[in-house]
Amino acid sequence: MAQAIQYRPDSPLTDLPGIGKAKGDKLAKAGLHVLRDLMLIPPVGVVRWPEPIDVASAIEREGDTVRVAGKVKSFQRTRFGGKRSLVRITLEGPDGSTIVGMWFNQPWMVDVVTKDEDVEFYGLRVDAKGPALTSPQIGHGDKPLPSAGTVEPQYAAPTGFSGAYLGSLIRQAIELAAAGLVDPLSDVALAQHGLPALAQAVCGVHTPTGLASYEAGRRRLALEPLLTIQANLQNRRAGRGGGARAVRFPKPVYKQIAERFPFEFTPGQKQVVADILRDLARHIPMRRLVQGDVGSGKTALALYAAMATVEAGGQVAFMAPTELLVEQHFYGARDMMRSMGIEAEILTGSLAASDRKYLVQRLKRGELQVVFGTHALFSKDVGFRRLDLIVIDEQHRFGVGQRASLAGKGQDAHLLLLTATPIPRTLALTLYGDLEVSTLKEAPPGRGSIETHWARGPKIRRVRPFVAGRLEAGEQAFWVCPRIGGQGDDDRQGAVERYEELCADKRLSSFGVELVHGKLPAEERAWRLDRFRQGDVGLLVATTVVEVGVDVSAATIMVIEEAQRLGLAQLHQLRGRVGRGSVDSYCVLLGEKSAAERFELLEGSRDGFYLAEEDMRKRGMGDLSGMRQAGLNTEGLTDPEQDLDLYMAARDLIQTCPDVMRSYARDQQTPLTP
Ligand code: ADP
Ligand code: MG
Repeated sequence: MAQAIQYRPDSPLTDLPGIGKAKGDKLAKAGLHVLRDLMLIPPVGVVRWPEPIDVASAIEREGDTVRVAGKVKSFQRTRFGGKRSLVRITLEGPDGSTIVGMWFNQPWMVDVVTKDEDVEFYGLRVDAKGPALTSPQIGHGDKPLPSAGTVEPQYAAPTGFSGAYLGSLIRQAIELAAAGLVDPLSDVALAQHGLPALAQAVCGVHTPTGLASYEAGRRRLALEPLLTIQANLQNRRAGRGGGARAVRFPKPVYKQIAERFPFEFTPGQKQVVADILRDLARHIPMRRLVQGDVGSGKTALALYAAMATVEAGGQVAFMAPTELLVEQHFYGARDMMRSMGIEAEILTGSLAASDRKYLVQRLKRGELQVVFGTHALFSKDVGFRRLDLIVIDEQHRFGVGQRASLAGKGQDAHLLLLTATPIPRTLALTLYGDLEVSTLKEAPPGRGSIETHWARGPKIRRVRPFVAGRLEAGEQAFWVCPRIGGQGDDDRQGAVERYEELCADKRLSSFGVELVHGKLPAEERAWRLDRFRQGDVGLLVATTVVEVGVDVSAATIMVIEEAQRLGLAQLHQLRGRVGRGSVDSYCVLLGEKSAAERFELLEGSRDGFYLAEEDMRKRGMGDLSGMRQAGLNTEGLTDPEQDLDLYMAARDLIQTCPDVMRSYARDQQTPLTP
């Protein structure tokens, strides 16, 4: 006689009666190896069995899944040759109305009922040359449908299995082994987050007694993958090792660096600098993200960190997404750095080969301490003598891939990321769980207001006189056209045409007009932008190349044409080019009604964090797509909006409970092989 099997959560599925090697292999392909895997499957949803309705009411409910009660009037089986067949069972209500249940290729269904029997159908009400239900479940006699109010989980089964079969396997697993499930979370932790223990949770989800027990269990199961993700992120953080050089220097240097800046740091900036210096002083490589709204003064933080690193003997790579921004950072920092004896240079794609070669030589010899550049900085030929700090400005503009290749280059370097596009909290907690985050809240003092206005209809004609008036008052204006235009562009509506046209406008052109766009050679572009920066010209026509970083504090007007072509975050960034001085600024939007909602949001708020959240909300699940981009498996993950507290709980538990960390990290490292 066969010995009774002692089932445990880690018993292989092939121990279950009815599961041989073939079935077991199929289930293994779907990631189901042991009983525990079955029990932890999250259902895709839950149905609550309704009260039955009569046939006449069911006829009215096309498109709904209905539960209908009636008498069997007739039944019929049609065979089409091969294994194809159709069974039709007609139900009749007390008022004589009828509805048909239909089953394709299940010929045995015809033998299930008898004429005049009372039965119930549960299925989707469709139209098949008359009211019908497709493959409804049947309840009758001693095999009734579950009573009204009964809650039943629904499953998405792996290919080759039905949801119902998977459900029966799960219930079997629970009966045999649920009692053996040990929850890695302590009773205290569970109570703190209002969650049932695993054993209770799997029963609550798969054999629910009501919606409340189902929901409580669902949340506990939903927490599982989140804990695993967090454990991995923390592992990655810990796996950084201690390979970085600690950036340390004598105390007076702090002050020396601070004195190079033409302003005093705000309390917020001081706080972030303290965060950064604390990280830099350790051997564990810093991975810090600083998020702060446009114009909040992030550059100064990075320059401070750069100078500190050099004072401690290291080199710095300062990366920005556009050449324009790189140039601005470089020219803004060069003199300040020189005054401390720091040599800085610029490396972009447009540098001549020989210059580049020489520059790289100096970097390798350590004669150059700071290099500003685009992603060209991370080409193969570029090497350093002692790269201790990498700064990435506007990091959200770099793809995940670029970030990864960079991480390879500077594995043991400290990394400082700057962004003006705040990452929604949910995403930061999951995707960036291995980053420390500092947030710069307030803007530097002495900023004027920015008034944003969407000009339409007759008001459009008032835009130019308004701009002219501000120029007469000695202020400067940006005029942004999303498209370049010029020869070869059919639209003839771009920045080039607008530039020519504004040059012909006497009232405006007397203040000088310049043009910058991405197709101009780098040197010429820098030179033209500089004319605007120096105040030689009052009006700058530009494409969105000025979106990131361009910093001209005398500019007070931002006109954006065809603004409907740009997203909310982009418009906010562009607007951030003005309002940097003490004079009140204006942003004028010209654009189509289709983008009215965006324009109105901008009119109503200057808060980039708020706008970013609105943007996310509108575009839906930006969060999950971000995680997918990063290559994280999002299957079975819950909606972060709905379960935000679970995301936070996962992070919290992994950070504060070493035992929990160990359990979930270990689960990942020991793949179950047959
Ligand atoms: P962002 O955060 O958008 O990168 P920037 O670093 O370009 O902002 O700073 C915007 C402007 O504010 C710059 O002109 C910078 O010199 C100025 N700034 C930064 N910090 C201060 C401060 N503490 N006091 C006064 N001006 C500041
Ligand atoms: Mg910036």
